[in-house]
Amino acid sequence: MTPPVAGPSAIVAGLRCRCPRCGIGPLYAGYLTVAATCRHCGLDLSSHDSGDGPAVFVVLIVGIVVIGAALVVEVLWSPPLWIHLVAWITLATGLALALLPPFKGVLIAIKIKHDAGEGERDR
Ligand SMILES: [Zn+2]
Repeated sequence: MTPPVAGPSAIVAGLRCRCPRCGIGPLYAGYLTVAATCRHCGLDLSSHDSGDGPAVFVVLIVGIVVIGAALVVEVLWSPPLWIHLVAWITLATGLALALLPPFKGVLIAIKIKHDAGEGERDR
């Protein structure tokens, strides 16, 4: 069994979108495209895919925040419907775009730190 990767906390490295081994090299080559290797320490990042996990967490968190805010605003001020549409669509889109990279970074960093792989059945 391979020992877990040493280095910075997986949560901190992931939230900063940095390599989980060195904490210095960028995790992404684009907005959400994982780099093939870390530019600083050479860790292979290409085989680590977080799948839909980050999107699920982000959708749940953004949904709670936006629905809660919309309910509070409606109860307090009852603005016209078009203000709700503009405000909450903008907030939901902005929050989702802002939260996806760090959430994906955390899941990838945790996976690398604990040497997690695809599920396998014991035979
Ligand atoms: Zn690195």
